[in-house]
Amino acid sequence: MRPESLNPLFADVTSLAGVGPKVAALIGKVAGPRVIDVMLTLPSGVIDRSYRPQIMTADEGRLVTLTVSVEKHTPPPKGRQRLPYKVLCSDETGYVTLVFFHARPDYLMRVLPEGERRIVSGRVERYGAALQMTHPDYIVDPGKADEMPLIEPVYPLTEGLAAKTMRKAAQEAASRAPALPDWMRGDIMITEKWPGWQEAIQAAHAPESDLDLNPQSITRQRLAYDELLANQLALALIRRQRRKTAGKSREGDGHLRNEVAKALPFRLTGDQTRALDDILSDMGASHRMVRLLQGDVGSGKTVVALMAILAAIESGSQAVMMAPTEILARQHFASIEPLLKDTNITVEMFTGRDKGQQRAAKLSGLAKGYINILIGTHAVFSDDVVYDDLGLVIIDEQHRFGVHQRVALQDKGRRADVLVMTATPIPRTLALTTYGDMEVSQIKEKPPGRKPVDTRAVPLDKVDQVIGAVSRAVEKGEQVYWVCPLVETSDIIDLTSVEARYGELLQHLGDRVGLVHGKMKSEEKDAVVEAFYNGTIRVLVATTVIEVGVNAPAATIMVIEHAERFGLAQLHQLRGRVGRGDKASTCLLLYKAGEGGQLGETAKARLNILRETEDGFLIAEEDLRLRGAGDALGSAQSGFPVFRLADVGTHARLLDMARDDASLVVEEDPDLKTPRGEALRHLLYLFSRDDAVKLLRSG
Ligand code: ADP
Ligand code: MG
Repeated sequence: MRPESLNPLFADVTSLAGVGPKVAALIGKVAGPRVIDVMLTLPSGVIDRSYRPQIMTADEGRLVTLTVSVEKHTPPPKGRQRLPYKVLCSDETGYVTLVFFHARPDYLMRVLPEGERRIVSGRVERYGAALQMTHPDYIVDPGKADEMPLIEPVYPLTEGLAAKTMRKAAQEAASRAPALPDWMRGDIMITEKWPGWQEAIQAAHAPESDLDLNPQSITRQRLAYDELLANQLALALIRRQRRKTAGKSREGDGHLRNEVAKALPFRLTGDQTRALDDILSDMGASHRMVRLLQGDVGSGKTVVALMAILAAIESGSQAVMMAPTEILARQHFASIEPLLKDTNITVEMFTGRDKGQQRAAKLSGLAKGYINILIGTHAVFSDDVVYDDLGLVIIDEQHRFGVHQRVALQDKGRRADVLVMTATPIPRTLALTTYGDMEVSQIKEKPPGRKPVDTRAVPLDKVDQVIGAVSRAVEKGEQVYWVCPLVETSDIIDLTSVEARYGELLQHLGDRVGLVHGKMKSEEKDAVVEAFYNGTIRVLVATTVIEVGVNAPAATIMVIEHAERFGLAQLHQLRGRVGRGDKASTCLLLYKAGEGGQLGETAKARLNILRETEDGFLIAEEDLRLRGAGDALGSAQSGFPVFRLADVGTHARLLDMARDDASLVVEEDPDLKTPRGEALRHLLYLFSRDDAVKLLRSG
């Protein structure tokens, strides 16, 4: 149960003064639905009104606070309401005109009575000798000067949400931060000189200058550490829980693996062998395996997975392999099934399309154990799918699932070993925050004989030449991918660009061109991909549906339109679709050039990295550096945790500390029973890691 003292923080934002349902919806967009979400949304800027010059010396363009006498109101002439309402003011050194558009004269007369003194604050412009302030931010009576804050935090906003409203809500949320037992390790507090949690929250919401917004300020570091520690502790608890759950030792005698290995047209690379050894030793151990297999597109993960599957079958279990899309599931099936021809292993496909009798037959085959391997989409984990003895769960292209979903999936398989495969090279820091609950194997080495892909940038206005080159290549028998970005306008996905390009290529190449995008029915998609796979279609125009793994080894040209709209890691993945056979391949990045036909600096830097290396891990690190964590990964949907206080790019040092801290805690106080352990429970709740608390005895 969540500690009583935290409950007010988990109340709806409408419990904050001045926040009704309408404002709550807007705040929900920038922060979240609960008070704690607002509390953990820190200021992104500071407004400083402490510059208080006299009129004559006021710097143009700056935010100033002036003490003035109100001289004279000049409303716009009758019938010319679009002209401004002006109020002339002065001090001993000169004059300033306050300018208002669409003014309400009675209001202005009230707040700026002629002959009285007022403090006004706003940005000033200078026209010759005349100083002007348009729509002052504040107009206050000198007697009530403290109604105007000299320093104001600025919060992230969205359309319709007034800065003042958000500021008030955030300030109130911050003031609700309770004093909590401190979970910070004493020695860290001393060496880092960090403030306590409550103090840190309040200070973070009361910045005094831009310096206080710096992620390396002690306040922000402390809070970032809290968030990272919650993340690392939760993962460590999940990992420990899993190790405690008895698994089953699945060693197998190797007879199936030997048989299939003999039929393979190649030998495993060193990295493949090492990864497989890791997996087999986990499977053979008595604890449950939860391992991540990372390797670039084309690095040969499938065959490693297949060997693991065979080991599971040798030891009398079933295996299931889940892919994020039907296309991918079919490809896995198509690459695995032929290799099993000479064995008596039964492998079946299973997707949401299996209905009626067909579905019933497969379900019965699974329950009775006749089916050894099931390959499919998330349908393989539907409620009515019952396995006879599920020993191995393989999840392909994990980056689309979050850690919560991963935990849920594993519960399905009870004691099954779990192997997660991802083709997204993930920078080390992100891997820690995302997969910190898993063991990791990496395949970095490519299968032998791969040629580097000739990567070039071409301005988009030369697209006609590219079409010409593509047509000539097709005449010579080559196969081409042509990728267009999806244009998403709010909720509508605009397919015009990809459809237009398809239409144009169709004119040049006729029915040798195919189109595939996410809005098509899966039957249609499969038919097109199949035709590309077997060569009837020579040019596949696609949105990024192919990004996650369509495999046509014969393809040699990859054209990416509007390459500037894709992330580096994504471009790298797309490029990985070609260069898989023994022929030389090309990747053309079509850029929309900026002013003067030039590429921007970042675009140039990105392109150079792609040209210089095909090492996905290096590219991922650079992507993170160039774009920052949120952007590099496309935030929430990507399944990466979204941090609010920490940035794994700038807070890498803190992440390492938090990781060590968390491992030590789990080792010494696994049920969080000591006083510090109790305090850490508060931390987990604060960051909504209730799932991890549930794993604790007496949690
Ligand atoms: P991934 O799933 O990692 O993207 P795949 O498993 O689909 O990569 O492998 C890509 C291609 O490389 C496949 O055609 C596969 O048969 C081939 N391949 C895999 N391992 C080797 C190897 N050791 N030597 C040569 N070719 C290999
Ligand atoms: Mg793959």
